Amino acid sequence: MSLDTAQKRLDEMLTDLDRSIAVLQSEHPEAEQHTADAGASLSDSGRIEAALEAMRGQRSEVLAAVARAHAGTYGKCVDCGLPVPDGRLEARPEACRCVACQAKHDRSRR
Ligand SMILES: [Zn+2]
Repeated sequence: MSLDTAQKRLDEMLTDLDRSIAVLQSEHPEAEQHTADAGASLSDSGRIEAALEAMRGQRSEVLAAVARAHAGTYGKCVDCGLPVPDGRLEARPEACRCVACQAKHDRSRR
């Protein structure tokens, strides 16, 4: 995948995420307030909150990938420095680690 294509994909992801986050927030203002007084059940606002959190997490990964694209290190694993396989970048343009390092990273977080 060329850097141009990657940057375009990242840009689109960012736009999509921003829109989804804005929509969720406007439809569920109660999800951010940690109180259940807005008519939504606790589990409901918890679910929305989790979705928002996941989207924010992905958004920051996309932003980091954009920064790496500018720095000229996009497509290289941040841990071992080897190129991240194209197929992986196609599936997840924001991926910052090769498969092996990501697996190690995931394990160390658990
Ligand atoms: Zn690696």
